[in-house]
Amino acid sequence: MMTPYQNQNTVFITQEETDRIRKTVQQRVTRCGELHGYAREPRDPTAAVKEATGASLMADMGGALDSEMTEHVYGQKEALPVLAVGMPYPPCTAPAQQLQPMTIANLQMDIHHRGRRLAVKRVSPVVSLAARSWTMVQDAAGEDVERLEICLHKSRYGKEVLESKSHFIVKEPYFTLTEQGEPTIRIDHPSDIVPYSDAEVQIDRTQDAIAGGKAADECKARGNAALRKKDLIAAYTEYTDGLKLATQMDVAETYPYLPQDLSRNRAYVNLLLDRLDEARTDAVASLIPAQDPKSKILNSKAYFRAGCAAYNLGEYREAKRYFENQRELCSDDKDAIILLRKVHMRLQEEETGIYDLRRIRAGLTPAHPGADVANFTGPTEVKNSPGRGRGLFATRDIPVGQVVTGEKAFCVLWGHQREALTALTYDIRDDRIRVTPVGLAKSIVQKLLSNPSQMEMVLGLYGDYKGGSTTIPDTVDGPVVDVFEVLDIISRNAFGLGHQYGGETTDNASTGLWIRSAYINHSCVPNTVKECIGDLLVFRSTHRISAGEEIFHAYDDSADYDARSSNLMATWGFECGCALCEAEKADGPVIRTKRKGLMDEANAFMEKERPFGAKRLMVAKAKKIGKAIEETYDGERYKGLPKVAGLKIQSWLAGVR
Ligand SMILES: [Zn+2]
Repeated sequence: MMTPYQNQNTVFITQEETDRIRKTVQQRVTRCGELHGYAREPRDPTAAVKEATGASLMADMGGALDSEMTEHVYGQKEALPVLAVGMPYPPCTAPAQQLQPMTIANLQMDIHHRGRRLAVKRVSPVVSLAARSWTMVQDAAGEDVERLEICLHKSRYGKEVLESKSHFIVKEPYFTLTEQGEPTIRIDHPSDIVPYSDAEVQIDRTQDAIAGGKAADECKARGNAALRKKDLIAAYTEYTDGLKLATQMDVAETYPYLPQDLSRNRAYVNLLLDRLDEARTDAVASLIPAQDPKSKILNSKAYFRAGCAAYNLGEYREAKRYFENQRELCSDDKDAIILLRKVHMRLQEEETGIYDLRRIRAGLTPAHPGADVANFTGPTEVKNSPGRGRGLFATRDIPVGQVVTGEKAFCVLWGHQREALTALTYDIRDDRIRVTPVGLAKSIVQKLLSNPSQMEMVLGLYGDYKGGSTTIPDTVDGPVVDVFEVLDIISRNAFGLGHQYGGETTDNASTGLWIRSAYINHSCVPNTVKECIGDLLVFRSTHRISAGEEIFHAYDDSADYDARSSNLMATWGFECGCALCEAEKADGPVIRTKRKGLMDEANAFMEKERPFGAKRLMVAKAKKIGKAIEETYDGERYKGLPKVAGLKIQSWLAGVR
């Protein structure tokens, strides 16, 4: 577990607002329960399309916030979307072809139509709101029109899913009510909707090899044209269709190396789309078993692409092999030489944990906010920590001031980036309203859908809900990610990066997820301190740590016991049982209140007075406050423990000249 970003941002929600959100969500849940199993009421198709068209116009003009009734206005008069969470259901894990077709007319209220699929066509513009998009769809089979809504995960590669194609297959449709009480087909898991277009290339199995080869070659040409126009999705689709055709039939005689060409080109598109798993596989698959000069150049390209994919996945040893192969084929290749130098630096960082922080800082800009660094897992291991789940432990003695771990964020969203989005989530399980970085949840889901090899690592983190995320590499529909599971993991493990690039407001705080650092448990008397450089998170030892000792970090370093313990409980759901908390608890409320009062007095004093050049009278006053704080501590009880309330005033006194 890890410091979430909530600490750094305060959102003021009035009791009235809180009550309104609770009531809205609870009313919907009750209504769904009452209508459970009821047959769907038919809609008037003309009125439905008209309604969506009007709402879409409003949304385009920025006036649609009000129609999303649960949008919430806070502090600075900016709207935060509100999402109800805590009613998870698993995504569909069957391929679409294995599901039984159904129609809109057969939909029943509050039912997940398991084992079924619904084919629909979009018949209205898309209404695009901050945290959801909806449109009207028509049955492929009949006249019926119904509302279709995608919650949160409404876009892919920066494009609205509902706008990307004209036809959709909804897997295991969920028919329910919106927060406003309107019936809708609702999609939460992005893998539950499969978009396709009318003109999708139909692969004709009866085609002969020559016709198949020609069609595949045309796909390649169209893909290249799309790539020149920077339409990555179209290029990807063309290359994929071409590959299907070319591999289905033996085209080698008429179109030698066509599958390799298609794979090599798709590897490039995949790199641009950040689909690294497939970029690597494609690049390797595109290698030509020939030695002529042209093949050598093409193979060196393929190695370069495989190397870049491996590098971006953090597989530096593998990247090194590919770049070396590239250099072997073209000895004067500048790209290979530059990248081999970078790989060498990454391997050094990975091994030593020595980061050139000056170089890293110099390379950070708002346009490139991420650090190009390797992770250093250091002398640490993940083990069970009694009473705390899992934790990170030292595998050898660590002197004070050393880098214990260094880690680049698995995924990060900066406040100044367009995708940054914060929402108020109302969790029906614990009746709590939280400020949640839902934009980060979206990005992580996208990253996992594009790179299923990373799934296990992320889903291994602690979350309250264990869903049904799996990789199903063999289905034509692609991998499946349980969005509820990811959201729960984020609410426990994500945390803020502070204001490094500006442009942050409460509704777009910079947040990230670090996998290994997330295992570091909390202690009020920690042995490490964290530092954020771009998205590189470094934990440094503040004490000597012995082999076998657990690594700790303070999620909340408030010197006031009551503030600290209530925040730990509210945000992370635990009561700290460290020696310091035990002692402060034993002090009782009278002493703690007195100490808090003195701390406030010290803070007020330090705000006014600077230690440098302070008058003697002021120094005497500071000493008096310091002594009074000291006197609230029982010497026996605090043996070996820091007297945290007095630390600030003591350091003020140390600064007196
Ligand atoms: Zn504690």
